[in-house]
Amino acid sequence: MIRTRFAPSPTGYLHIGGARTALFSWAFARHHAGQFILRIEDTDVARSTPEAVQAIIDGMNWLGLTHDEGPFYQMQRMDRYKEVIKKMLASGTAYYCYTTPEELDRMRDEQRSQGLKPRYDGTWRPEAGKTLPPAPSGVQPVVRFKNPTEGVVGWDDLVKGRIEIANSELDDLIIARQDGTPTYNFCVVVDDWDMRITHVIRGDDHVNNTPRQINILKALDAEVPLYAHLSMILGDDGQKLSKRHGAVSVMQYHEDGYLPEAVLNYLARLGWSHGDDEIFSMREFCGWFDLDHITPSAAQFNTEKLNWLNAHYIKQADNARLADLVKPRLEARGVTVAQSPSLEAIISLYKERITNLNELADAAEVFYIDLTPTPEILAQHLTPESLPALRDFVAGIAEVSWEAPAINALIKHCIGAHGLKMPKLAMPLRVLLTGQAQTPSVDALITLFPRELVLKRLAVAQTI
Ligand code: GLU
Repeated sequence: MIRTRFAPSPTGYLHIGGARTALFSWAFARHHAGQFILRIEDTDVARSTPEAVQAIIDGMNWLGLTHDEGPFYQMQRMDRYKEVIKKMLASGTAYYCYTTPEELDRMRDEQRSQGLKPRYDGTWRPEAGKTLPPAPSGVQPVVRFKNPTEGVVGWDDLVKGRIEIANSELDDLIIARQDGTPTYNFCVVVDDWDMRITHVIRGDDHVNNTPRQINILKALDAEVPLYAHLSMILGDDGQKLSKRHGAVSVMQYHEDGYLPEAVLNYLARLGWSHGDDEIFSMREFCGWFDLDHITPSAAQFNTEKLNWLNAHYIKQADNARLADLVKPRLEARGVTVAQSPSLEAIISLYKERITNLNELADAAEVFYIDLTPTPEILAQHLTPESLPALRDFVAGIAEVSWEAPAINALIKHCIGAHGLKMPKLAMPLRVLLTGQAQTPSVDALITLFPRELVLKRLAVAQTI
């Protein structure tokens, strides 16, 4: 049974790199009919906040990355970590170290001044035949892991290939602080062990932790999971993705009017490919996803491509669903969505031409608010040339049958009667009705409105 996990630290929001890690871990579990576990690594109490936990859960929910177990909180598992530390002390795979932080600082300074790599000198490390100094009174010890000194520790990374490091390069890691609280790498190890994780899929900022974690797992006689370290995501400009690049929080994409399926499809292609396939559903993705087709090189963010995918998914989306998504956006702007014109009908006409839900809200808003054209707009579009045709049109629509072909015929009749080209009438109609010069075809646009509203918005033609 394949078991993967997503283990974010709740210190900010769910960012786009974290979401990609979550997606790959989730998809790998789904592909193998395995289980996906959510674990909140909240032991950094100074930086972890309940808001950040909520932001992670909201982001995962929005994307639909459902977990089978959890969320587990490390802060609720302290007793378990302490129990394992006790066992390691008893079995001799860990030991108390009374070297104080000040002594450590001095030790490191001295080593540096001699051109040596700074490291713990092993004073308190028990060895066969070695007599340890007597424990100083009044010093709270830390607990260190007794790292092997010989040989290498390595793993076949499922993305990066073989990685090895000599044990002599690794210090004896502190696994419990002076106050007895377990440290980060240790909690991860106990959790991956207890949660029977088979595949650890995570960002490659953790590659340096892996040899230490493997050594501790081995000391615990635990099965070592397989590791897949994902390369980082770079911004559009090739620099490490950061706030400078705009929206890096997943929920910011929600705010900015992206559909979750567009974000997921986009994230899926960040460092993974399936031939030339660009547009696919999560069902297809889970069917295809494997670790063999993850690129070891960094993936580059491409906002244009995300926008293209979002436009695609908006076109595909059901109008009623889009209306449900756009309505709260309008309400948040203080716009009351009336029964008529129908929001669904507006969306149906506009969704072909926009990239995100906020643009859809922009387009819909003008149907529900009082529009007062500015004097500049009136001067520009209600010219002596256009006005007579516009007035004929206003007279005509009081009677015309309320459907696009009839309205189109009326427009043609009015421009024909005055020897005008289409834009001379269409432009004033567009700006008076919507305040915008760019709209879908004007006959279709008009049928979205109730007749009275069109008459009201065009009334200015009679008063000029
Ligand atoms: N909590 C770590 C992070 O947010 C992830 C640890 C892991 O996946 O092993 O970067």
